[in-house]
Amino acid sequence: MDSDTQPKIALHKFSSCDGCQLAFLNLGAGLLSVFEQFEVVHFAEAGPVADDVPVLISFVEGSISTPDDLARIKQVRANSRYLITIGACATAGGLQALRNLADDDGWVESVYATPEYIDTLDTVTPIRAHVPVDAELWGCPVNGTQVLNALHACRNGTLPVVEHDKVCLECKRQQTVCVMVTRGLPCMGPVTRTGCGALCPGYARDCYACYGPAENSEDGILRDRFAGLGLNNKQIEHRFTSFTSAAGMTRDVNRRKGTE
Ligand code: SF4
Ligand code: SF4
Repeated sequence: MDSDTQPKIALHKFSSCDGCQLAFLNLGAGLLSVFEQFEVVHFAEAGPVADDVPVLISFVEGSISTPDDLARIKQVRANSRYLITIGACATAGGLQALRNLADDDGWVESVYATPEYIDTLDTVTPIRAHVPVDAELWGCPVNGTQVLNALHACRNGTLPVVEHDKVCLECKRQQTVCVMVTRGLPCMGPVTRTGCGALCPGYARDCYACYGPAENSEDGILRDRFAGLGLNNKQIEHRFTSFTSAAGMTRDVNRRKGTE
């Protein structure tokens, strides 16, 4: 297929660590097939740079945390038939959204040597807070296979199927031994959506919720379980407030804070 007939795609970076772009780059043979089937017009980490071109699909990594981010995401949306967010930053704020929970701006001085050069918005927000999003792929980083599936779905005029099940269900499917039951680890799998393939329990460690909240999850029961495992309130709150702090898990935490 030549570039005149290939569908155009772009991968845009906002406030992020680039890890989701790396997940894309690490697709190996899958990445070669992407470059054969699509014209990749913008993907700065891989080489092509043309960030203001109409495309079939824009993948967006990162959250909105600066005035420049805000202006650019509107341009990306206007140029895209499908806009798909990839990763915890783009779908739920990412780690940088933890600053929304800070009581003051002291973090700027504590992190940057020349804070006067830092120009940020008051809060860090996911992409859907500013423009319509066609599909959200979660994870920190995103799963490359999910990105490939989304590419092919959109090329065929449909939206990708996004996982809503809990990580626990994936453990059962894979017959992975439960690390909470057998090792007493505070696993977030009972309230976290799958899509990672239950990667962490498969390596005998606890899920830390980088895929964000699952559908119909009940955090109160899990909090009680964590308390039974010996975690104090602060440790439990940290389990629920990390990669996806601008998603439902943290809203629950904030609601609790306000009522306690
Ligand atoms: S979701 Fe994780 S891996 Fe992806 S850009 Fe954000 S911090 Fe990096
Ligand atoms: S290891 Fe975690 S995700 Fe897997 S079944 Fe146990 S609690 Fe659920």
